Amino acid sequence: MAKITLENLAHSYLPDPKSENDFALKELNHDWADGEAYALLGSSGCGKSTLLNIISGLLIPSQGRVLFDGTDVTMSPTADRNIAQVFQFPVVYDTMTVRQNLAFPLKNRGMDAAEIKRRVQRVGKMIDMEAELDHKARGLTADAKQKISLGRGMVREDVNALLFDEPLTVIDPHMKWELRTQLKQLHQDFGHTMIYVTHDQTEALTFADKVVVMYDGRVVQIGTPQDLFERPAHTFVGYFIGSPGMNLFEATIEGATARVGDTTVELGGTYVASGKTQLGVRPEFIRLSAGGTGIPAQINRVEDVGRHKIVRLTVEGHETNAVIGEGVDIPAGTDRISFAPEGINVYANDWRISAKGDAA
Ligand code: ADP
Ligand code: MG
Repeated sequence: MAKITLENLAHSYLPDPKSENDFALKELNHDWADGEAYALLGSSGCGKSTLLNIISGLLIPSQGRVLFDGTDVTMSPTADRNIAQVFQFPVVYDTMTVRQNLAFPLKNRGMDAAEIKRRVQRVGKMIDMEAELDHKARGLTADAKQKISLGRGMVREDVNALLFDEPLTVIDPHMKWELRTQLKQLHQDFGHTMIYVTHDQTEALTFADKVVVMYDGRVVQIGTPQDLFERPAHTFVGYFIGSPGMNLFEATIEGATARVGDTTVELGGTYVASGKTQLGVRPEFIRLSAGGTGIPAQINRVEDVGRHKIVRLTVEGHETNAVIGEGVDIPAGTDRISFAPEGINVYANDWRISAKGDAA
């Protein structure tokens, strides 16, 4: 197990990058704490695999250093980094049995037969393939083969880090939940540093202690699921996390108040903001009223989704969502919205800014 440090790291696939836009991974400084479980979350093409492959040594970064427990491994091949990596699509030896596939990383290191047997049995159980251990991998479904790949990633107990790159993509939906649970259990049992890449917020939020959100080659926020929900550091995080995502309102910031259209909104703190300024308010913090001092709004429809209702509105010409808890009534004749003060985030040029004297 190791702490992984990224120092001034950046990567371009171009031989002669000119501007920031030429970088698939924009400059990044970060410590991945020893023994922590991270999810690396972002939409397709934002640079997740690029970052993971630099950590594993499949890719040499065009700039910066990678350190494992303080030792520079930037130029070291994957084999010398003592890590396990599981990819999106299965990598298995077809002519070997499931057991031989799982045993491979251990046999390679000359482990004794009894210990190999014990570990293979444990992992066979985790991936729910105990009954098929002596079947040849050839002829198994893509789903089963991917479970073998996962198992091979989990079989070693002494690795510096476990890296998973969207490992459940080809897995049957009902098995996904089960395997994610097993990965969490593995983390609890062995305390490996784990990085789990996904574009699925549910997967990220249920798996990880900390979520690293990437957008367009940049890490935009690293935080607990609660941080991402309550204090999205970038408008992308607000939009990407949560369903529906955070509402954004163009606003002029005037110290402790903001103007949204013709309405004055109390911010509950004093802000200095310039550039493109917006208020971000999650649907859970939108309040509905008939009349009063709020921002004019029209309800378009109400969706009952079991535990709560999603109210779809138009506010200042934009689609806006409110989430109303079970047992809370939508006021008859609703034509205004207001914001719960604790749910207001202020953004300047898409980055969240803090109120004066506020640490966060
Ligand atoms: P993600 O894993 O988040 O989907 P990637 O790290 O694979 O994203 O890709 C980030 C960006 O780098 C994308 O624009 C992609 O097209 C580009 N890219 C990835 N691999 C290569 C490569 N081998 N050569 C050139 N461009 C690449
Ligand atoms: Mg990828």
